[in-house]
Amino acid sequence: MIENKKLSDLEDGNNSNSYHHMLVIIEVVDGVVLPVNYEMLGEARRLMDFFNKQYNSNEKVIAVVLGQNIKDLCNELINYGADVVVYADDPNLRYMVNQTSTKVISSIAMDKDIISKISPDFVNHYKKPRYMFFAADSIGRHLSATVLAELDSGLASDVNKLEISDLEIKHQHKTKGNALKYGKVLEMYRPDFSGFLWTTILCLDNKNPEIRRDFHPQACSIIPGAFAPLEPDPKRKGQLIEFTPKFDKKDLKIKVLNRSIDKDKIDFDSFKIVISFGKGIKEFPEDNIKLIETLSKLTGAEIGISLPLSKKIFKLDEKINSKYMIPGRVIGTSGRKITPKIYIAIGISGAIQHIEGMKEAEFVIAINTDENAPIINECDIFIKGKMEDVLPVLIEEIKRIISPLEVQAKRK
Ligand SMILES: Cc1cc2nc3c(=O)[nH]c(=O)nc-3n(C[C@H](O)[C@H](O)[C@H](O)COP(=O)(O)OP(=O)(O)OC[C@H]3O[C@@H](n4cnc5c(N)ncnc54)[C@H](O)[C@@H]3O)c2cc1C
Repeated sequence: MIENKKLSDLEDGNNSNSYHHMLVIIEVVDGVVLPVNYEMLGEARRLMDFFNKQYNSNEKVIAVVLGQNIKDLCNELINYGADVVVYADDPNLRYMVNQTSTKVISSIAMDKDIISKISPDFVNHYKKPRYMFFAADSIGRHLSATVLAELDSGLASDVNKLEISDLEIKHQHKTKGNALKYGKVLEMYRPDFSGFLWTTILCLDNKNPEIRRDFHPQACSIIPGAFAPLEPDPKRKGQLIEFTPKFDKKDLKIKVLNRSIDKDKIDFDSFKIVISFGKGIKEFPEDNIKLIETLSKLTGAEIGISLPLSKKIFKLDEKINSKYMIPGRVIGTSGRKITPKIYIAIGISGAIQHIEGMKEAEFVIAINTDENAPIINECDIFIKGKMEDVLPVLIEEIKRIISPLEVQAKRK
């Protein structure tokens, strides 16, 4: 780190004249802004308030929203922290199609007319946004990759902590081994190895003269639930700018004519208890699943799984595979977010993506051999032990105290 008082004097090395503002890409599904977008706006506001104070600047949080009949949503985005909303309202944008959205978002990101309306002082040298946020959901993960490819920069995916800092970096490739200063760097943290390790990802320009090139915007996708939204303030003032997209024939090769969403077959919402299992079943998968089935029948619980199991990683009877190892049972950011009264996590380490799906459970019990597993921080009762030993004892004890008829009452 370098001293703050010297920061304004620094050539920040990231071509500060060419890159400005924070773009937050908003997802609208069936006329509704997804909650993660409000969380992203809250974090963008916090970071840009810090940025403007620290660097004595006036860079904006710009929400970008695509769709049809979306103008009414724009003021809400201002209430939640945006300074500016750029919206593209067009029948071709009614349903999200990656190719079409990539083109429109990239065009907005590089549009000097928009910048001249927001901050005329920056327009002469403006090339691209300084920072960009997408949601780390099924839409945003794909979209962020294609937009950043179009904008010729890098991307950190599934981020859950962010800071803006000035750093001194010495890197064989980026700086040719010299210690060089980088200003206004977005430090993007993401959980790895089931949450046991936090990786910091930096998107840095190459300052090595032999391979000189810029990497902007500094962009990431953000895990839903990682940040809190701001309290909406209906008095907040902001600027709305309409962008009229231009499409040619090849942009509209894919057309969505209609869309219906299949209802989840696994109905977690009507169960008071959910029991989930993870890779910890590995030593005796079929026997362990039988024990978990017995426990679920006794307690009237529905069964969930961690994400890796949905990839059918164990050799199992096909009936078991097709019943349990399916995406519809996954708990977490890639699956369901559930709110049972009791959640029992068996052989699950507690990676952040999993926790996001169950953290609203009222009471959490974990069975795990490793007391350092992150799930310990989320549970009310931690049973240290092998499920092969713990489950039979638990089942016998529950059988002793509960009558089968009581099971009927276990549904919400
Ligand atoms: C983009 C992205 C999205 C993701 N989305 C999700 C998601 O929605 N949901 C999700 O679950 N994961 C998700 N993941 C994966 C997540 O990061 C973890 O890798 C995953 O949750 C780990 O699964 P696990 O806990 O079953 O396995 P592990 O992390 O391997 O944990 C197994 C646990 O079992 C314990 N154990 C071992 N033997 C026994 C035994 N005999 N008895 C009891 N305990 C035992 C171990 O101590 C360990 O804690 C996502 C990852 C990425 C990159």
